[in-house]
Amino acid sequence: MSASNGDIAFVPTMGALHDGHVSLIKHARTLTNNVVVSIFVNPLQFESSEDLEKYPRDLEGDSKKALAAGATRVWAPTIDEIYPENLKVNGEVKKISAGEIANKFEGAARPGHFDGVLTVINQLFKHVDPRWAIFGEKDFQQLHIVKNWVTKSYIPVEVITGGIIRDSDGLALSSRNVRLTTEGRKAALVISRALRSGSKASMKEILASEPALTLDYAEVIDPSTFEIADSSTLNPRAIVAGWIDGVRLLVNMGMAAGS
Ligand code: AMP
Repeated sequence: MSASNGDIAFVPTMGALHDGHVSLIKHARTLTNNVVVSIFVNPLQFESSEDLEKYPRDLEGDSKKALAAGATRVWAPTIDEIYPENLKVNGEVKKISAGEIANKFEGAARPGHFDGVLTVINQLFKHVDPRWAIFGEKDFQQLHIVKNWVTKSYIPVEVITGGIIRDSDGLALSSRNVRLTTEGRKAALVISRALRSGSKASMKEILASEPALTLDYAEVIDPSTFEIADSSTLNPRAIVAGWIDGVRLLVNMGMAAGS
């Protein structure tokens, strides 16, 4: 899959494509006519087998959406293609260690998650050999960890950021949203309302007012260190994750300084 048609822009996904993925694919297409979209539900980044099993899958629909958005190749590898035997020690895939920031927030809630993310991205990059890889800002901590890893490991791929795409009611698009009940979806709007409220205190208060939401974390952080922001932090960012109807919701938003 290497550069016979010129440099590749790569959009890695886990499928169940929505307009967030579509915007990344369109962005990729502005860089080159050679856009590869991968669809691979990566077992290594799921800490719950139930979440992995219930993850929505729709390869046929995904291929159509990706091609319509400008992908020139949709690649849905098998688990054995991504994790061949020679990558395993005692039957387990040897994972890349994602380091310090990977233990905070998303990583604390989902132990081992970012090790699994870096391990799959490394394998996908080896197969696709892209010049650019486009990642969504929705997974803010993932984006940070991937960027750091690419820089530290001298990986010759340019990481490009795509903004968060939301539904008209404000809910950030996510493949998992299809599993929300009608009431759950309504309840989920509390998160965008809380993020827009402008201060950490009001954000927490609004989130606490929704009984259907089980919060993993809601913080305002320094985006360069993932330490809790203070009044001197540049570009503080609110990050929120939690559960509604057994569905995990994750989103973030820039905040005014000192909020
Ligand atoms: P996923 O299929 O959920 O692993 O996501 C694949 C890529 O799409 C990741 O880089 C995500 O950050 C990105 N993505 C997911 N949801 C959105 C969204 N609502 N807006 C923009 N990018 C997104």
